[in-house]
This record gives sequence, structure tokens and C-alpha cells, in this order.
Amino acid sequence: MLSADDALALVNALIRDLGGASGWVAANAVHQGLHPAPGAGDTFLIEIRDAQGRTAGWVSIAAGDAALAAESAAANLQDLLAESAEMWGEPVPRCDLHGQHPMTAEVVDGTAMWRCGGVSVRPVVPID
Ligand SMILES: [Zn+2]
Repeated sequence: MLSADDALALVNALIRDLGGASGWVAANAVHQGLHPAPGAGDTFLIEIRDAQGRTAGWVSIAAGDAALAAESAAANLQDLLAESAEMWGEPVPRCDLHGQHPMTAEVVDGTAMWRCGGVSVRPVVPID
């Protein structure tokens, strides 16, 4: 079970990796519990603010499992960045193998990976 702080740290790491030019920051995590007890159905809604402090959008992430959290955060942040004024027309993230198109986030063997054409290219969560 992800905490709100874990959720913000995850999204901020993904913003640094995917949208470094955007100036965005994950500012606020709102827990959306579907059940009285924390469980796999829970999500966090993460408020993303732009460099001027305005709300740029919201990213929904699964809270129950680390790999699903990373996959869902990556996919939803990818959509938000791709539609933003800051990153319009950029492949987010640019495929490391081919350069011209974005990759797709998928969980493979318990790890969220950026993939292209069924090939795992690199982990979604950057390893520093
Ligand atoms: Zn590719």
C-alpha cells in the first residue's frame, strides 16, 4: 500500500524523467478509497502544478501495488504531458530504440517497464 508521500515521490521522479522541460511538480495527493479498509482498489489522485503554480491536471494512480502504481502513474502522466502546451508534439517518453515515437508502460514480471513493440526497453521508475 502506497502512502501519500510515496505517491508524490513517485510522480515527481516520473516528471523529472519524462517532462523535465515542463516545470511541473506533483503538489497534492488525494486518497480515493473505494473500501473502508485500504486495498487494491484504492487510488491516489495527484494534483500536478505547472511552473506558475497553476493546476496543470490530475494523475490517477493505483495505490495497492508498487508495479501497478508505477505503470498507472506513468501512463496517466504520459497522457497529460502529451496533451500539454509545454510538451506538445514531443514523444513522451521518446523510444530509446527508435527515437521517433513514445513507449508504452506495462507491468512485466512484477516490474513496470517502458516497452516498444513487445520489447522491454527500461524500467518506468528511474534508477539513479
Ligand atoms: Zn520504438
